[in-house]
Amino acid sequence: MEKKQVVIIGAGLAGLSAGALLARKGFQVFIMEESGGAGGRARVMEKDGFVLEYGVHSFRYADKSSAAKVMAELGLTPEWLREDHRGWLIRGKDLFPIPGGKEPVPEEVKKYFHREEITVVKEALEKLALQAPEKFYHKSLSDLMGDALKDEKVMLMTRLIGLQVMESDPARISTGELVAHLRRAYDAGVGSAQLKGSSRVFIDKMVSAIAEAGGELKLGCRALALEIENGRVKTIDSSEGQFEPEVLVYTGPMAYFLQLAGPSHFPEKFVKKVKRLEPVSGVAIDFALREKASELKGWLIEPELGIMGKFPSNLDPGLAPAGKQLSSWLITLSPDQMADPEAVRAGIHKLRGQIKKIFPDFFALVEWERILALPIIDGAALTTRQSLVDRPSVEAPQVENLFLAGDSVAVPGASGEIAVASGIKVSEKIAGYLGGKLL
Ligand SMILES: Cc1cc2nc3c(=O)[nH]c(=O)nc-3n(C[C@H](O)[C@H](O)[C@H](O)COP(=O)(O)OP(=O)(O)OC[C@H]3O[C@@H](n4cnc5c(N)ncnc54)[C@H](O)[C@@H]3O)c2cc1C
Repeated sequence: MEKKQVVIIGAGLAGLSAGALLARKGFQVFIMEESGGAGGRARVMEKDGFVLEYGVHSFRYADKSSAAKVMAELGLTPEWLREDHRGWLIRGKDLFPIPGGKEPVPEEVKKYFHREEITVVKEALEKLALQAPEKFYHKSLSDLMGDALKDEKVMLMTRLIGLQVMESDPARISTGELVAHLRRAYDAGVGSAQLKGSSRVFIDKMVSAIAEAGGELKLGCRALALEIENGRVKTIDSSEGQFEPEVLVYTGPMAYFLQLAGPSHFPEKFVKKVKRLEPVSGVAIDFALREKASELKGWLIEPELGIMGKFPSNLDPGLAPAGKQLSSWLITLSPDQMADPEAVRAGIHKLRGQIKKIFPDFFALVEWERILALPIIDGAALTTRQSLVDRPSVEAPQVENLFLAGDSVAVPGASGEIAVASGIKVSEKIAGYLGGKLL
């Protein structure tokens, strides 16, 4: 049995952020990661000179993001490549500019949306933005927009905006979550950005900061079970032996947390909350293209099918060899669809069909592709049932030395922003907890 001060399960964005910040504060950090590398769902791979995120990725809020905050704390000010807020709406084989970008749309570009539907959606959201988002966590966008959604274009605009937080169904999306995101994007002056050099800039910085501060990252080490006694985590069984932590942080999928820890140690309300968490899921395909298929820099979005794509190497040429191009796409599918191989195949077929409609020569340019069928893209969809106030808190109830981080806990943001922000929050809570014990 090895004694450890802070043990973190998982080296994704949440575990790495928490680990690096705690190590820097002088705590002894030990991270166990079951896979062979760091980064979790934001890990990066390199092949034939292409640098591939784990599916299409951006950071929300650029230099105003939690990732920027953590990196600044560790002495790194990276370059953010801001994505055009506008992007392109896909309708069949046509692309139309999405309203909202800073640059005026040139006259010769055909528009899909006109003043009327833009005004309806804009006014509804602006009215809400003046109020506190927490009033609307349990209200869906359809609750608030009512009959306006009968207009096909208003409905499409609403879906498009919802996809900024990965939920395109106005009947499900938490208006409070969406308004909170839009306010932050407005304050940051940008919805999303690529980190120049990819997410591995962030991941590598966290890994080196942990090592420099004397922390340890153990790859290929799987947490198997927790022993909880008298309201404390006593031991962790892992594939590499047993550990006795003063503090434990769990950052893996919440669906597995109860298996690891056993539900009987927690209040029923918490167990229910964890059990009903529903992720965003879907299929991501990355294509290595031998030639450029497009010069577009913004996102391309088909809101009814939940399709999103971009050409990350147009913004960051370092992501593909000279003259070649990286193109990354995603189709969101429900967890039920993901459990059905036929539905997954149909989703992939739809995604390919859509790409071919816009870029008829695309598939002739593909050198190779990588398909990822993902039961969890984001830990918790930002629906009215699992908004900020419904997700589990970072302090596990009734177990004083157990903390939860990752993209499904109750921290503001969306997707990876939640993961990193939860790492920051957990590091502050743990510093307080361990500091308090020393006094
Ligand atoms: C295709 C795709 C596209 C995305 N696009 C975006 C985007 O554009 N913008 C954005 O902000 N977010 C995006 N996300 C979401 C973002 O990647 C995640 O929110 C974030 O990476 C989650 O980090 P995490 O630390 O919470 O979890 P994870 O990355 O899942 O990390 C958890 C780690 O714990 C390890 N682990 C689990 N169980 C155990 C165990 N028992 N023992 C040891 N280790 C264990 C896992 O191997 C993993 O490495 C996307 C995700 C995907 C999949």
